[in-house]
Amino acid sequence: MSDSPTLFERIIAREIPSTVVYEDDRYIAIKDIAPKAPLHLLVIPKEVSTRVDEITDPQEMGELWLTAIKVARQHAEDYRLVVNCGKGGGQMVFHTHIHILAGWEGGPDQDI
Ligand code: 5GP
Repeated sequence: MSDSPTLFERIIAREIPSTVVYEDDRYIAIKDIAPKAPLHLLVIPKEVSTRVDEITDPQEMGELWLTAIKVARQHAEDYRLVVNCGKGGGQMVFHTHIHILAGWEGGPDQDI
């Protein structure tokens, strides 16, 4: 892992502005800058890991997903949670995060 702060660490530190929709001592949720759905949020653990499969502690993994579900339910009844893992999986920011996507009329534009 690089020593320099990740983009999301800089957002957490308020060095880079973002729209924060949720924050506690361990997680932050922000609006995605380039939304791929009417609602597009990112749930980000403050403790840095590069990608989700680096998290090996079941409690930590569970808390991350439970936080994403909690934030999603604060904004939508139905939603999609997505994790891009590694460059080949479409990950561009190497600080673990879960995408919350929601708000399409009649369901997502694309099935997976
Ligand atoms: P990834 O492809 O790594 O799973 O997702 C990274 C996400 O971060 C992308 O959806 C991208 O639009 C979002 N993103 C990139 N830079 C910024 C930024 O400066 N602010 C916010 N709020 N989102 C960003």
